[in-house]
Amino acid sequence: MGFNIAIDGPAGAGKSTIAKKVAKQLGYIYVDTGAMYRAMALFLLKEKVEPKDTEAVNEKCREADITIRYENGEQVVYLNGENVNAYLRTEQVGNMASVTSANPNVRKKLVELQQKLAAGADVVMDGRDIGTCVLPDAEVKVYLTASSRVRAKRRYDELTAKGEVCDINVIEKDIIERDHQDMTREISPLRQAEDAVLIDSSDMTIDEVAVQIMELAGQKR
Ligand code: C5P
Repeated sequence: MGFNIAIDGPAGAGKSTIAKKVAKQLGYIYVDTGAMYRAMALFLLKEKVEPKDTEAVNEKCREADITIRYENGEQVVYLNGENVNAYLRTEQVGNMASVTSANPNVRKKLVELQQKLAAGADVVMDGRDIGTCVLPDAEVKVYLTASSRVRAKRRYDELTAKGEVCDINVIEKDIIERDHQDMTREISPLRQAEDAVLIDSSDMTIDEVAVQIMELAGQKR
């Protein structure tokens, strides 16, 4: 059994940047579960499945073979044998993932994959339900959040740096909507596990958050 660090929280709280950093410092494997839900969403988009059609999603998701490999220390997601990393981080795929991740068959399939990865290695895993459902016995659990405005600003800066034109108010509205979807869905809603440590990163730097998580890990080891 590996040493497991679970980091949950809403979109844009800084989970992936921080989880990656902590994993690197500790020599652990970083598992990005959002990327798995995104790969499934990409598949369902390609197959032109109506996201709210539960039956269709239930059926189609069986045909998606999602596997994870680590190449040069990076998580690479394979969808039916193809490396799809380059297609996962778009708004379209994110919005689709937010809807289709509420499907029970989608979750069952991906949670099994996540548990398998964590059983065999020391991992830092981030997502929405890691501390509550995927790894209930994780040694360290963190619920990382930040205000919706701060999260929208971070996303805005990221997109404008890439040369994209965008509106911070639209981004904030999307963020609030996605939070609502993730927090109110029936299975595995986003919530803080009872034994998770709450960290609000609104006024913290990435390094400050990473240091705090490494201290928590140090206390448990
Ligand atoms: O974190 P990321 O934005 O990549 O996640 C995309 C979507 O996947 C989220 O909006 C959420 O609905 C879903 N997700 C989930 N459970 C996880 C990770 C992501 O439901 N453990």
